[in-house]
Amino acid sequence: MLLDLEPDETALFLDFDGTLVDLAPRPEDVVVAPRLPALLSRLQTRFGGAVSLVSGRPIADLDSFLTPFSSVAHGLHGLEGRDAPYAPVIRVKPPAALDWIRSGLSESGIGETPGVLVEDKGLTIAVHYRNAPDQHDAICTLLHDLAAPHADLSVLAGKMVVEVKPFGTSKATAVERALVLPGFKGRRPVFVGDDITDEDGMKAALERGGTAVKIGEGPSVAPHRLGSPADVHAWLDRLAGSA
Ligand SMILES: [Mg+2]
Repeated sequence: MLLDLEPDETALFLDFDGTLVDLAPRPEDVVVAPRLPALLSRLQTRFGGAVSLVSGRPIADLDSFLTPFSSVAHGLHGLEGRDAPYAPVIRVKPPAALDWIRSGLSESGIGETPGVLVEDKGLTIAVHYRNAPDQHDAICTLLHDLAAPHADLSVLAGKMVVEVKPFGTSKATAVERALVLPGFKGRRPVFVGDDITDEDGMKAALERGGTAVKIGEGPSVAPHRLGSPADVHAWLDRLAGSA
């Protein structure tokens, strides 16, 4: 089963970690297939520019992994966006309440636990525990407790990561914003992702007459499924057509 798409009528929304690259124990350790940037460029040309990256990472992070490829992108779960390749990244103002989370995390000492990694992305703070899975409950409880008094913050759980972020944006925001851009407008959104946080983007795509592809195991609203990033590459390669 490889979903076929009409390149002139489709807008593609691609998650990064677990979708375009295999997950790694630490986010900075992901390995990008050498041919991936060129594959994405071909895909972008084929789809008339209507290819957007949608990630929990900052856009600068995606750029550093995929250089020289650049595209419309939404990072930090929709908190920052870029409306055209190589254009400046626009981000929302960080809520002051994030400083409370920062100091609460530091006081808790959770970052000192072996296998736990606190990643401060400026607009969000993520606590990764891929190397300390037994810390799941402790980290969830801690972050929910720290965020609870702050109505402008929300807690988002992903694969082996819990993140505190400003309330009100998600990967659905990325779909909504991109679909008003020239080059995306009027196209059918197709959202491709592997994680729980991608479900918002998938729902947004489905609500707008599009579809979604889930990578890997687990429940999903997506009508289509692929096994791994390697399968995604093969599928995108076919969609991109011959070079
Ligand atoms: Mg992912």
